[in-house]
Amino acid sequence: MSTDVMVASATLDIEKIRKDFPILERKVYGKPLVYFDNGATAQKPWAVIKGIEDYYTQLNSNVHRGVHHLSQQATDAYEASRRKIQAFLNAKHEHEVIYTKGTTDAINLVAYSYGKQFVKAGDTVIISAMEHHSNIVPWQIMCEDRGAQLKVIPINDKGELQMDAFAQLLHDRVKLISVAYVSNTLGTINPVKEIIELAHQYKIPVFLDAAQAVQHIPIDVQELDVDFLVFSGHKIYGPTGIGILYGKEALLNQMPPYQGGGSMIKQVTFEKTTYHDLPFRFEAGTPNIEACINLGTAIDYVTNIGLPAIQQYEHELLEYLTEQLLAIDKLRIIGTAAEKSGVVSFIVEGVHPYDVGVLLDKLGIAVRTGHHCTQPLMEFFGIPGTVRVSLAFYNTKAEIDQLAAGITRAVNMLT
Ligand code: PMP
Repeated sequence: MSTDVMVASATLDIEKIRKDFPILERKVYGKPLVYFDNGATAQKPWAVIKGIEDYYTQLNSNVHRGVHHLSQQATDAYEASRRKIQAFLNAKHEHEVIYTKGTTDAINLVAYSYGKQFVKAGDTVIISAMEHHSNIVPWQIMCEDRGAQLKVIPINDKGELQMDAFAQLLHDRVKLISVAYVSNTLGTINPVKEIIELAHQYKIPVFLDAAQAVQHIPIDVQELDVDFLVFSGHKIYGPTGIGILYGKEALLNQMPPYQGGGSMIKQVTFEKTTYHDLPFRFEAGTPNIEACINLGTAIDYVTNIGLPAIQQYEHELLEYLTEQLLAIDKLRIIGTAAEKSGVVSFIVEGVHPYDVGVLLDKLGIAVRTGHHCTQPLMEFFGIPGTVRVSLAFYNTKAEIDQLAAGITRAVNMLT
Protein backbone atom coordinates (compact mmCIF):
# COMPACT_ATOMS: atom_id res chain seq x y z
CA MET A 1 0.00 0.00 0.00
CA SER A 2 1.53 3.36 -0.95
CA THR A 3 2.03 6.10 1.62
CA ASP A 4 -0.30 8.34 -0.41
CA VAL A 5 -3.16 5.92 0.12
CA MET A 6 -2.44 5.59 3.85
CA VAL A 7 -2.45 9.38 4.25
CA ALA A 8 -5.67 9.71 2.26
CA SER A 9 -7.35 7.07 4.43
CA ALA A 10 -6.27 8.75 7.64
CA THR A 11 -7.99 11.93 6.47
CA LEU A 12 -11.39 10.34 5.70
CA ASP A 13 -13.81 12.04 8.05
CA ILE A 14 -16.56 9.42 8.34
CA GLU A 15 -18.78 11.45 10.67
CA LYS A 16 -18.74 14.31 8.18
CA ILE A 17 -19.34 11.91 5.26
CA ARG A 18 -22.34 10.39 7.06
CA LYS A 19 -23.98 13.82 7.22
CA ASP A 20 -23.98 13.84 3.42
CA PHE A 21 -26.44 10.89 3.46
CA PRO A 22 -29.74 12.08 4.98
CA ILE A 23 -31.30 8.60 5.14
CA LEU A 24 -28.63 7.53 7.66
CA GLU A 25 -30.34 9.81 10.18
CA ARG A 26 -33.66 8.01 10.07
CA LYS A 27 -34.86 5.46 12.59
CA VAL A 28 -36.25 2.00 11.95
CA TYR A 29 -38.49 0.57 14.71
CA GLY A 30 -37.30 3.48 16.86
CA LYS A 31 -33.63 2.52 16.42
CA PRO A 32 -31.00 4.31 14.32
CA LEU A 33 -30.77 2.73 10.89
CA VAL A 34 -27.69 0.55 10.37
CA TYR A 35 -27.47 -0.03 6.65
CA PHE A 36 -25.47 -3.05 5.55
CA ASP A 37 -27.26 -3.79 2.27
CA ASN A 38 -25.05 -1.63 0.07
CA GLY A 39 -24.46 -4.44 -2.43
CA ALA A 40 -28.18 -4.37 -3.27
CA THR A 41 -28.26 -0.60 -3.56
CA ALA A 42 -26.27 2.21 -1.97
CA GLN A 43 -27.69 5.30 -0.25
CA LYS A 44 -27.59 8.68 -1.97
CA PRO A 45 -25.72 11.81 -0.88
CA TRP A 46 -27.38 15.24 -0.80
CA ALA A 47 -25.43 16.19 -3.94
CA VAL A 48 -27.34 13.56 -5.94
CA ILE A 49 -30.70 14.23 -4.27
CA LYS A 50 -30.34 17.97 -4.88
CA GLY A 51 -29.07 17.31 -8.40
CA ILE A 52 -32.32 15.49 -9.21
CA GLU A 53 -34.36 18.34 -7.72
CA ASP A 54 -32.32 20.88 -9.69
CA TYR A 55 -32.91 18.96 -12.87
CA TYR A 56 -36.68 19.05 -12.45
CA THR A 57 -36.81 22.64 -11.20
CA GLN A 58 -34.29 24.14 -13.64
CA LEU A 59 -33.57 21.97 -16.66
CA ASN A 60 -36.36 19.53 -17.44
CA SER A 61 -36.62 19.07 -21.21
CA ASN A 62 -35.70 16.41 -23.73
CA VAL A 63 -32.09 15.93 -24.88
CA HIS A 64 -30.66 16.07 -28.40
CA ARG A 65 -34.01 17.25 -29.76
CA GLY A 66 -34.91 20.82 -28.94
CA VAL A 67 -33.54 24.02 -30.38
CA HIS A 68 -34.63 25.85 -27.23
CA HIS A 69 -32.50 26.94 -24.28
CA LEU A 70 -33.62 24.31 -21.76
CA SER A 71 -33.08 21.45 -24.15
CA GLN A 72 -29.60 22.72 -24.95
CA GLN A 73 -28.72 23.04 -21.27
CA ALA A 74 -30.09 19.57 -20.50
CA THR A 75 -28.15 18.14 -23.44
CA ASP A 76 -24.95 19.85 -22.25
CA ALA A 77 -25.39 18.41 -18.75
CA TYR A 78 -26.20 14.97 -20.19
CA GLU A 79 -23.05 14.96 -22.34
CA ALA A 80 -20.90 16.50 -19.58
CA SER A 81 -21.90 13.56 -17.38
CA ARG A 82 -20.83 11.13 -20.10
CA ARG A 83 -17.39 12.81 -20.12
CA LYS A 84 -17.17 12.47 -16.31
CA ILE A 85 -17.82 8.75 -16.66
CA GLN A 86 -15.28 8.53 -19.46
CA ALA A 87 -12.68 10.16 -17.20
CA PHE A 88 -13.70 7.96 -14.24
CA LEU A 89 -13.07 4.79 -16.27
CA ASN A 90 -10.25 6.33 -18.30
CA ALA A 91 -11.98 5.34 -21.53
CA LYS A 92 -10.21 6.53 -24.66
CA HIS A 93 -13.32 8.04 -26.29
CA GLU A 94 -16.47 9.49 -24.81
CA HIS A 95 -18.57 7.63 -27.40
CA GLU A 96 -17.36 4.36 -25.85
CA VAL A 97 -19.57 5.23 -22.85
CA ILE A 98 -23.19 4.20 -23.44
CA TYR A 99 -26.07 4.98 -21.12
CA THR A 100 -28.23 1.97 -20.27
CA LYS A 101 -30.89 1.26 -17.64
CA GLY A 102 -28.39 -0.63 -15.49
CA THR A 103 -26.02 -3.58 -15.41
CA THR A 104 -28.72 -6.05 -16.41
CA ASP A 105 -29.77 -3.93 -19.38
CA ALA A 106 -26.14 -3.48 -20.49
CA ILE A 107 -25.46 -7.23 -20.34
CA ASN A 108 -28.60 -7.95 -22.35
CA LEU A 109 -27.55 -5.33 -24.91
CA VAL A 110 -24.17 -6.97 -25.49
CA ALA A 111 -25.52 -10.54 -25.35
CA TYR A 112 -28.05 -9.68 -28.05
CA SER A 113 -25.96 -7.44 -30.26
CA TYR A 114 -22.52 -9.01 -29.94
CA GLY A 115 -24.14 -12.46 -30.10
CA LYS A 116 -25.96 -11.62 -33.33
CA GLN A 117 -22.77 -10.34 -34.96
CA PHE A 118 -20.10 -12.69 -33.66
CA VAL A 119 -21.52 -15.91 -32.20
CA LYS A 120 -22.35 -18.83 -34.47
CA ALA A 121 -23.46 -22.45 -34.02
CA GLY A 122 -20.69 -24.47 -32.38
CA ASP A 123 -19.06 -21.43 -30.70
CA THR A 124 -18.53 -21.11 -26.95
CA VAL A 125 -19.15 -18.37 -24.40
CA ILE A 126 -17.51 -18.64 -20.97
CA ILE A 127 -18.85 -17.34 -17.65
CA SER A 128 -17.95 -18.33 -14.08
CA ALA A 129 -19.60 -20.32 -11.30
CA MET A 130 -20.02 -17.24 -9.11
CA GLU A 131 -22.03 -15.08 -11.53
CA HIS A 132 -25.15 -13.10 -10.69
CA HIS A 133 -28.21 -14.33 -12.61
CA SER A 134 -27.86 -11.15 -14.71
CA ASN A 135 -24.54 -12.43 -15.97
CA ILE A 136 -25.86 -15.94 -16.65
CA VAL A 137 -29.32 -15.77 -18.17
CA PRO A 138 -28.71 -13.28 -21.05
CA TRP A 139 -25.76 -15.39 -22.24
CA GLN A 140 -27.84 -18.56 -21.87
CA ILE A 141 -30.63 -17.05 -23.98
CA MET A 142 -28.11 -15.90 -26.59
CA CYS A 143 -26.29 -19.25 -26.72
CA GLU A 144 -29.57 -21.10 -27.12
CA ASP A 145 -30.55 -18.75 -29.90
CA ARG A 146 -27.20 -19.03 -31.71
CA GLY A 147 -26.67 -22.78 -31.13
CA ALA A 148 -23.57 -22.01 -29.02
CA GLN A 149 -22.41 -23.58 -25.76
CA LEU A 150 -22.07 -21.91 -22.38
CA LYS A 151 -19.08 -23.09 -20.34
CA VAL A 152 -18.46 -22.30 -16.69
CA ILE A 153 -15.14 -21.59 -14.94
CA PRO A 154 -15.24 -23.65 -11.72
CA ILE A 155 -14.38 -22.24 -8.28
CA ASN A 156 -12.71 -23.73 -5.20
CA ASP A 157 -14.17 -23.98 -1.68
CA LYS A 158 -12.89 -20.54 -0.78
CA GLY A 159 -14.86 -19.05 -3.66
CA GLU A 160 -11.89 -18.35 -5.95
CA LEU A 161 -11.81 -19.03 -9.68
CA GLN A 162 -9.80 -22.11 -10.64
CA MET A 163 -7.45 -20.45 -13.06
CA ASP A 164 -5.91 -23.70 -14.33
CA ALA A 165 -9.34 -24.98 -15.29
CA PHE A 166 -10.05 -21.62 -16.93
CA ALA A 167 -6.94 -21.90 -19.10
CA GLN A 168 -8.11 -25.37 -20.18
CA LEU A 169 -11.39 -23.91 -21.45
CA LEU A 170 -9.74 -21.57 -23.94
CA HIS A 171 -9.70 -22.35 -27.64
CA ASP A 172 -10.33 -20.49 -30.86
CA ARG A 173 -14.10 -21.13 -30.92
CA VAL A 174 -14.54 -19.20 -27.66
CA LYS A 175 -16.19 -15.93 -28.67
CA LEU A 176 -16.47 -14.14 -25.33
CA ILE A 177 -15.62 -14.46 -21.64
CA SER A 178 -17.90 -12.70 -19.17
CA VAL A 179 -17.04 -12.63 -15.47
CA ALA A 180 -17.77 -10.54 -12.40
CA TYR A 181 -14.94 -8.29 -11.28
CA VAL A 182 -16.22 -8.73 -7.69
CA SER A 183 -18.70 -11.41 -6.60
CA ASN A 184 -21.86 -9.92 -5.07
CA THR A 185 -22.32 -12.95 -2.80
CA LEU A 186 -18.76 -13.88 -1.80
CA GLY A 187 -16.90 -10.59 -2.15
CA THR A 188 -14.16 -12.35 -4.13
CA ILE A 189 -12.10 -9.99 -6.27
CA ASN A 190 -11.33 -11.94 -9.40
CA PRO A 191 -7.89 -11.74 -11.09
CA VAL A 192 -9.33 -9.85 -14.02
CA LYS A 193 -6.02 -8.61 -15.39
CA GLU A 194 -4.75 -12.17 -15.62
CA ILE A 195 -8.03 -13.33 -17.21
CA ILE A 196 -7.84 -10.59 -19.84
CA GLU A 197 -4.19 -11.25 -20.66
CA LEU A 198 -4.81 -14.97 -21.06
CA ALA A 199 -7.98 -14.46 -23.13
CA HIS A 200 -6.25 -11.98 -25.43
CA GLN A 201 -3.61 -14.57 -26.26
CA TYR A 202 -6.49 -16.37 -28.00
CA LYS A 203 -7.95 -13.05 -29.29
CA ILE A 204 -11.04 -13.57 -27.12
CA PRO A 205 -12.76 -10.39 -25.88
CA VAL A 206 -13.47 -10.09 -22.14
CA PHE A 207 -16.62 -8.61 -20.63
CA LEU A 208 -16.48 -7.49 -16.99
CA ASP A 209 -19.55 -7.21 -14.78
CA ALA A 210 -18.26 -4.43 -12.54
CA ALA A 211 -21.56 -3.89 -10.67
CA GLN A 212 -19.81 -4.65 -7.35
CA ALA A 213 -16.43 -3.21 -8.29
CA VAL A 214 -16.63 0.39 -9.55
CA GLN A 215 -17.72 1.75 -6.16
CA HIS A 216 -14.83 0.01 -4.34
CA ILE A 217 -11.84 -0.32 -6.68
CA PRO A 218 -10.26 2.29 -9.01
CA ILE A 219 -10.70 1.05 -12.59
CA ASP A 220 -8.76 2.03 -15.69
CA VAL A 221 -10.28 0.30 -18.72
CA GLN A 222 -7.29 1.09 -20.95
CA GLU A 223 -4.80 -0.21 -18.42
CA LEU A 224 -6.89 -3.38 -17.97
CA ASP A 225 -7.35 -3.57 -21.74
CA VAL A 226 -10.88 -4.86 -21.06
CA ASP A 227 -13.21 -5.08 -24.06
CA PHE A 228 -16.54 -4.42 -22.31
CA LEU A 229 -17.30 -3.28 -18.78
CA VAL A 230 -20.70 -2.58 -17.21
CA PHE A 231 -22.03 -1.18 -13.96
CA SER A 232 -25.17 0.28 -12.33
CA GLY A 233 -25.56 3.86 -11.11
CA HIS A 234 -27.56 2.96 -8.01
CA LYS A 235 -24.74 0.91 -6.47
CA ILE A 236 -22.28 3.81 -6.77
CA TYR A 237 -24.43 6.31 -4.79
CA GLY A 238 -26.22 7.48 -7.95
CA PRO A 239 -29.84 7.20 -9.11
CA THR A 240 -31.62 3.99 -10.08
CA GLY A 241 -32.56 3.24 -13.69
CA ILE A 242 -29.15 4.21 -15.04
CA GLY A 243 -26.15 2.07 -15.90
CA ILE A 244 -23.12 2.19 -18.13
CA LEU A 245 -21.84 0.02 -20.90
CA TYR A 246 -18.22 0.72 -21.76
CA GLY A 247 -17.08 -0.99 -24.94
CA LYS A 248 -14.06 -0.63 -27.18
CA GLU A 249 -14.94 1.51 -30.16
CA ALA A 250 -13.80 -1.10 -32.69
CA LEU A 251 -16.14 -3.74 -31.24
CA LEU A 252 -19.14 -1.46 -30.67
CA ASN A 253 -18.84 -0.16 -34.22
CA GLN A 254 -19.31 -3.65 -35.59
CA MET A 255 -22.36 -4.42 -33.44
CA PRO A 256 -25.95 -4.00 -34.71
CA PRO A 257 -28.48 -1.89 -32.76
CA TYR A 258 -30.19 -3.53 -29.80
CA GLN A 259 -33.34 -1.43 -29.87
CA GLY A 260 -34.81 0.69 -32.64
CA GLY A 261 -36.53 4.05 -32.17
CA GLY A 262 -35.90 7.76 -31.87
CA SER A 263 -32.36 9.13 -31.41
CA MET A 264 -30.57 6.05 -32.76
CA ILE A 265 -31.14 6.82 -36.45
CA LYS A 266 -29.54 8.93 -39.17
CA GLN A 267 -32.26 8.60 -41.79
CA VAL A 268 -35.55 6.72 -41.80
CA THR A 269 -37.59 5.78 -44.84
CA PHE A 270 -40.13 2.98 -45.08
CA GLU A 271 -37.69 1.10 -47.28
CA LYS A 272 -34.54 1.45 -45.20
CA THR A 273 -33.15 3.06 -42.04
CA THR A 274 -29.57 4.11 -41.49
CA TYR A 275 -28.25 4.25 -37.96
CA HIS A 276 -26.58 6.95 -35.94
CA ASP A 277 -22.94 6.79 -34.84
CA LEU A 278 -21.78 5.75 -31.37
CA PRO A 279 -22.93 6.20 -28.67
CA PHE A 280 -26.42 7.19 -29.88
CA ARG A 281 -26.88 4.03 -31.97
CA PHE A 282 -27.36 2.18 -28.66
CA GLU A 283 -29.47 4.86 -26.95
CA ALA A 284 -32.91 4.53 -28.53
CA GLY A 285 -35.75 6.60 -27.08
CA THR A 286 -35.85 9.24 -24.35
CA PRO A 287 -33.26 8.29 -21.74
CA ASN A 288 -33.51 8.59 -17.97
CA ILE A 289 -32.10 12.12 -18.26
CA GLU A 290 -32.03 13.15 -14.58
CA ALA A 291 -30.35 9.86 -13.73
CA CYS A 292 -27.74 10.15 -16.50
CA ILE A 293 -26.85 13.66 -15.32
CA ASN A 294 -26.74 12.71 -11.66
CA LEU A 295 -24.68 9.59 -12.16
CA GLY A 296 -22.05 12.19 -13.06
CA THR A 297 -22.82 13.98 -9.78
CA ALA A 298 -22.39 10.72 -7.84
CA ILE A 299 -19.10 10.05 -9.59
CA ASP A 300 -17.88 13.55 -8.73
CA TYR A 301 -18.84 12.87 -5.12
CA VAL A 302 -16.91 9.58 -4.99
CA THR A 303 -13.93 11.01 -6.87
CA ASN A 304 -13.73 13.97 -4.49
CA ILE A 305 -13.49 11.64 -1.50
CA GLY A 306 -11.07 9.47 -3.48
CA LEU A 307 -11.49 5.80 -4.39
CA PRO A 308 -8.04 4.78 -3.06
CA ALA A 309 -8.97 6.21 0.36
CA ILE A 310 -12.40 4.57 0.18
CA GLN A 311 -10.78 1.25 -0.72
CA GLN A 312 -8.37 1.48 2.20
CA TYR A 313 -11.09 2.35 4.72
CA GLU A 314 -13.47 -0.34 3.45
CA HIS A 315 -10.68 -2.88 3.69
CA GLU A 316 -10.16 -1.97 7.35
CA LEU A 317 -13.90 -2.39 7.89
CA LEU A 318 -13.87 -5.75 6.09
CA GLU A 319 -11.08 -7.07 8.30
CA TYR A 320 -12.82 -5.87 11.44
CA LEU A 321 -16.15 -7.34 10.33
CA THR A 322 -14.56 -10.70 9.49
CA GLU A 323 -12.86 -10.81 12.90
CA GLN A 324 -16.06 -9.98 14.76
CA LEU A 325 -18.12 -12.54 12.86
CA LEU A 326 -15.57 -15.33 13.27
CA ALA A 327 -15.80 -14.87 17.05
CA ILE A 328 -19.49 -15.85 16.99
CA ASP A 329 -20.30 -19.44 17.86
CA LYS A 330 -21.77 -21.64 15.09
CA LEU A 331 -21.22 -18.97 12.42
CA ARG A 332 -19.52 -19.93 9.16
CA ILE A 333 -18.35 -17.45 6.55
CA ILE A 334 -19.11 -18.43 2.96
CA GLY A 335 -16.44 -16.98 0.68
CA THR A 336 -12.96 -16.83 2.13
CA ALA A 337 -10.95 -15.79 -0.93
CA ALA A 338 -7.52 -14.25 -0.38
CA GLU A 339 -8.62 -11.13 -2.29
CA LYS A 340 -11.95 -9.77 -1.09
CA SER A 341 -13.97 -6.58 -1.31
CA GLY A 342 -16.46 -5.40 1.35
CA VAL A 343 -18.93 -8.28 1.28
CA VAL A 344 -19.28 -10.99 3.90
CA SER A 345 -21.81 -13.81 3.53
CA PHE A 346 -22.43 -16.21 6.39
CA ILE A 347 -24.67 -18.94 7.71
CA VAL A 348 -25.38 -19.97 11.27
CA GLU A 349 -25.53 -23.68 11.90
CA GLY A 350 -29.12 -24.81 12.43
CA VAL A 351 -30.68 -21.42 11.66
CA HIS A 352 -32.33 -20.24 8.45
CA PRO A 353 -30.70 -17.05 7.08
CA TYR A 354 -34.12 -15.42 6.79
CA ASP A 355 -34.72 -15.73 10.56
CA VAL A 356 -31.39 -14.03 11.30
CA GLY A 357 -32.30 -11.25 8.84
CA VAL A 358 -35.72 -10.69 10.45
CA LEU A 359 -34.27 -10.47 13.95
CA LEU A 360 -31.58 -8.04 12.79
CA ASP A 361 -34.22 -5.95 11.06
CA LYS A 362 -36.08 -5.54 14.36
CA LEU A 363 -32.87 -3.98 15.71
CA GLY A 364 -32.78 -1.50 12.82
CA ILE A 365 -30.01 -3.41 11.03
CA ALA A 366 -30.54 -3.95 7.29
CA VAL A 367 -28.84 -7.01 5.75
CA ARG A 368 -29.76 -9.14 2.77
CA THR A 369 -30.76 -12.79 3.08
CA GLY A 370 -31.36 -15.44 0.44
CA HIS A 371 -29.57 -16.64 -2.66
CA HIS A 372 -28.54 -13.13 -3.80
CA CYS A 373 -29.44 -13.96 -7.42
CA THR A 374 -26.69 -16.60 -7.46
CA GLN A 375 -28.61 -19.87 -7.22
CA PRO A 376 -25.92 -22.01 -8.93
CA LEU A 377 -23.42 -20.70 -6.36
CA MET A 378 -25.73 -21.71 -3.49
CA GLU A 379 -26.00 -25.14 -5.05
CA PHE A 380 -22.18 -25.37 -5.19
CA PHE A 381 -21.95 -24.64 -1.45
CA GLY A 382 -24.96 -26.89 -0.75
CA ILE A 383 -26.87 -24.19 1.15
CA PRO A 384 -30.26 -22.51 0.59
CA GLY A 385 -28.91 -19.02 1.10
CA THR A 386 -26.77 -16.79 3.29
CA VAL A 387 -26.99 -13.64 5.34
CA ARG A 388 -25.00 -11.00 3.45
CA VAL A 389 -23.40 -7.93 4.96
CA SER A 390 -22.18 -5.50 2.30
CA LEU A 391 -20.20 -2.42 3.25
CA ALA A 392 -19.97 1.18 2.13
CA PHE A 393 -17.57 3.89 3.25
CA TYR A 394 -20.24 5.51 5.46
CA ASN A 395 -20.34 2.37 7.66
CA THR A 396 -18.42 2.34 10.93
CA LYS A 397 -16.79 -0.10 13.33
CA ALA A 398 -19.42 0.89 15.92
CA GLU A 399 -22.12 -0.33 13.50
CA ILE A 400 -20.21 -3.59 13.05
CA ASP A 401 -20.19 -3.99 16.86
CA GLN A 402 -23.98 -3.51 16.86
CA LEU A 403 -24.32 -6.08 14.09
CA ALA A 404 -22.16 -8.63 15.93
CA ALA A 405 -24.18 -8.12 19.13
CA GLY A 406 -27.40 -8.53 17.12
CA ILE A 407 -26.22 -11.76 15.48
CA THR A 408 -25.08 -13.17 18.84
CA ARG A 409 -28.53 -12.40 20.23
CA ALA A 410 -30.18 -14.06 17.24
CA VAL A 411 -27.99 -17.16 17.58
CA ASN A 412 -28.83 -17.45 21.28
CA MET A 413 -32.55 -17.11 20.60
CA LEU A 414 -32.72 -19.43 17.60
CA THR A 415 -30.39 -22.30 18.57
N1 PMP B 1 -24.18 -8.23 -11.40
C1 PMP B 1 -23.82 -8.15 -10.12
C2 PMP B 1 -22.49 -8.70 -9.69
C3 PMP B 1 -24.69 -7.57 -9.19
O1 PMP B 1 -24.35 -7.50 -7.90
C4 PMP B 1 -25.93 -7.05 -9.63
C5 PMP B 1 -26.91 -6.43 -8.68
N2 PMP B 1 -27.12 -7.15 -7.50
C6 PMP B 1 -26.23 -7.14 -10.99
C7 PMP B 1 -25.32 -7.73 -11.84
C8 PMP B 1 -27.50 -6.59 -11.54
O2 PMP B 1 -27.53 -5.20 -11.39
P1 PMP B 1 -28.85 -4.36 -11.69
O3 PMP B 1 -29.95 -5.04 -10.92
O4 PMP B 1 -28.52 -3.00 -11.16
O5 PMP B 1 -29.09 -4.39 -13.14
